[in-house]
Order: sequence, then structure tokens, then C-alpha cells
Amino acid sequence: MSLTRKSAAELGRLIASGETSAVEVAQAHLDRITSVEPKVKAFLHVDAETTLRQAREVDDRIARGEALGPLAGVPIAHKDVFTTVDMPTTAGSRILAGWRPPYDATITRRLREAGLVFLGKANMDEFAMGSSTENSAYGPTGNPWDVSRVAGGSSGGSAAAVAAYEAPLSTGTDTGGSIRQPAAVTGIVGMKPTYGGSSRYGVIAFASSLDTPGPFARNVLDAALLHEAFSGHDPYDATSIDAPVPPVVEAARQGDVAGLRVGVVKEFGGEGYQPGVVARFHETVEVLESLGAKVVEVSCPSFGYALPAYYLIAPSECSSNLARFDAMRYGMRVGDDGTRSAEEVMALTRAAGFGPEVKRRIMLGTYALSSGYYDAYYGQAQKVRTLIARDFEAAFHQVDVLISPTTPTTAFPIGERVDDPMAMYLADLCTIPTNLAGNAAISVPCGLADEDGLPVGLQIMAPVLGDDRCYRVGAAVERALAERWGGDLLSKAPAL
Ligand code: GLN
Repeated sequence: MSLTRKSAAELGRLIASGETSAVEVAQAHLDRITSVEPKVKAFLHVDAETTLRQAREVDDRIARGEALGPLAGVPIAHKDVFTTVDMPTTAGSRILAGWRPPYDATITRRLREAGLVFLGKANMDEFAMGSSTENSAYGPTGNPWDVSRVAGGSSGGSAAAVAAYEAPLSTGTDTGGSIRQPAAVTGIVGMKPTYGGSSRYGVIAFASSLDTPGPFARNVLDAALLHEAFSGHDPYDATSIDAPVPPVVEAARQGDVAGLRVGVVKEFGGEGYQPGVVARFHETVEVLESLGAKVVEVSCPSFGYALPAYYLIAPSECSSNLARFDAMRYGMRVGDDGTRSAEEVMALTRAAGFGPEVKRRIMLGTYALSSGYYDAYYGQAQKVRTLIARDFEAAFHQVDVLISPTTPTTAFPIGERVDDPMAMYLADLCTIPTNLAGNAAISVPCGLADEDGLPVGLQIMAPVLGDDRCYRVGAAVERALAERWGGDLLSKAPAL
């Protein structure tokens, strides 16, 4: 089997035992990138020299007998929102074209120390605003199942790279669904950890109270290994939780749901949901029952208000966070010819540097935060946020996890929703409540929709710091469905 088809866990073992080397594994993935990138366009930056230098260093560290983690030598792609000292970081925006960060994000630093090898930076919606990666200033990414369709967003490049076997692992960020949604529509695993469980230090901010970095992988155990490798308290992030990392790897290995109480969210289904998505979801519920889980229906009445509340809170926070792109400190500068004031240069730069969706959000957020409207919009949305957290709290008194489809539909054609922001926003209908409440949720593949043969995701939501439950249930579903499919779902994808 080609090295690019192997799991991250298996690659880690082969490298540690000396059966292969980090350099060999990196080269195999760089070759795969060369062959499929013209179609997939998952990467904004690939630099074989830097990758191979990193791989040689890891091989040297292993040869010296340094004790590295289980992923030492395993390649990874990073969403282009994580700062990296040896690669540019653009957040998918023209305003940061070519920017070289002076420091590593905590997550990239920790993964470097654990011996992971960076393949490059993955495409994304500009500043992580979007659900299809079409808001990238550098063009869209194709879904490896059908490159005329979106790979989801905002972490579409990260998801596509893993689904296309360009990388066994990648990082993403999930503010309203941007890990789970692209994972679902590309047929892979994506996890949004508990808010504060993964460090935001060095991750270019979109909406700070919602942004949550997390892992992508082709299977649940690999995602858990990556999750564990970058987690743990970070004194550089004021919202980082100072508590032990939930036992995610153990849970992923265990994958047992006997006696577990599973709640089906009543509000997620029906109108607007593609029949093939609903059918696969119901089948998966039956699978869980057959494995001994007790499944009940649970109502979360405030979830219906999550989307409007999110689209006030996220733009409000982004309008404040993006004020730093002022043409003075870093990034693009337009019109600085000695005749214009700083304000004029700032306005020209922001007009040229930001794309339409980013501008829409900044305007919306600035309006919602303005003194006359603050209470009516931002204040109300924060109250809804509390109601949603209470719905979760009440639900987790009755059940151990909640489940739903990850997305209402499968991957849509590139171009279909670009001029219709409302249709685009609906892609995150099921994922947003979790961001507002800060708890954990994962998406695992649960089959192909009959209408279009495209992947469907199952979302498993757990309480704050109950991340291990997501992996435990995800692993059980993965194992049961692999038996049914005679392998993993990705093996059914047409060759690229
Ligand atoms: N699609 C949502 C948005 O556009 C969520 C994005 C995200 O999670 N980063 O804001």
C-alpha cells in the first residue's frame, strides 16, 4: 500500500521502528500533492525544501534517540490561519499576501516539537468567514469526490488535503462549523474541541469567543492522536482551560457505546434537509441502537435561534478583531505616496485588501455594536446564547451525547450559493449551537446520499470537557460502518 494511503498512527509506527523515514513519507506526500493539486487546489503554499528539511531534522532526532510522540515524522497540512515561522500565513486574504509571521502559533509550535512535518498551508475562506472556501482571495478548493463541488468551509483546504490523500492529518478552526462541515462533505473526521481546550495563540482571530482550533483526519483514532498532541493549557491564551486534557485517545481506541444514552436533537431534521442525508442519519441511529446505546429524542427549543444569534455575535467580534489590519503594522499598504493621510491609506488598503464577505461582516458587526443598536442586536443575541447553553445543559441531564446530521445537505456545486449569503449560512445550521455554548462536537462519515453519491456526516455533541465522548461514539460508529462498507468511506471515492 502506498504511504499516502496509510493512517497517521501507522505512519508514526513505521517511522519509529525505522521501516521508513520521515523524509520518505514526506516525499510520498509531496509527490501526491504535485499530482492532484492542479485539480483539488487544497494548498495556498507548498514548499518542498522546507518540508524535507523539517523531515530530515525529525529523522535526526529519532536517530539520536529523542523520545518523540506517536506522530513523530507524520506530515500535516495547516489551515492558513495558524502562524508558522517558516511559511507565509495569509488567512486566505489579499491583505496578508506574502506575510511571514514572526512567531509560531502554540499549536504549530507544539506539533513541531512533537516531530510532525509541515507540508504547507491550506486554503480557506478569507479570515474563516464562509462555508465553502469560495471566499478565499485565492480561488476555491475542489471537493476530492467531485472537484466541481465545494469542499466545505471555512477549512475547505484542510479537509480536501486529507480526503485527497495529500496529507494524513490537518488542522482547522471551527467558529460556527468550519471543521465539522467540511469534514462532513468530504467524507472525513473533523473535531471541534471544547472552547478553550485548544489554544488560539497565534491563530488569526475571527470571533474570539467562538474560534476553536481542531483536528482533521481520515479516521477517529488519528484525529484523537492529533487532538492530544496539540492540547493542554496555554498561558499565552487567556481563555485556555487549565484542566487535564480529556482522555481522547483512550476513548477512540475503546469505541464502546453499550448503555450510553444518546439524544437525537428533534429540531434538526425535516424541511430543508436533503432526503439522502436524513436517510443515512436514521440508519446510523439504528446502528447505535444495535450496539446497545439507548436512543431517545431530545428537544432543544432555542437551537432554532442559533443561526441569527451567531450572525450578530460573529460579525460583531470580527469587526473589532479585523481593526488591526490598518496598513500600518503589517500586510498590504495601498496609496502611501506621501500625499495621503494615514486614514486615507487605511481606507484604500482595507477597500482593496478585504473581499466582499469580510466587508459585509465588518459593516454588520459595526452596526450591531453601535450605541443605539447594541442592546437590540448584540445584547439580544447574547441572551439567546445563554438560552442555547441552557438547552445543552438540560439535554445533558438526560443523555450522554446528542446527535444530528452535521449538515443539511451534501457538498453543493461551486458557484451555486456565492451570491446568496443566506443559503450559504444555512450550511452551518446544525453546527452553530455548539460554538455558541462552547461544548465539544465531532463529525464522522456515515454514508453516501442516494441522490448524488456524496458523503454525509454524523455530528456527535458532548458536554464541555466531554470531548472523549465524541471520540468514543465516533469510533463505535466508524467500526460498525466499516464492517458494513467493507472498508472506509473514502475508499469509495472516484479516483482523482
Ligand atoms: N460558516 C460560518 C461563517 O461563515 C462558520 C465559519 C467558521 O466556523 N469559521 O461564519
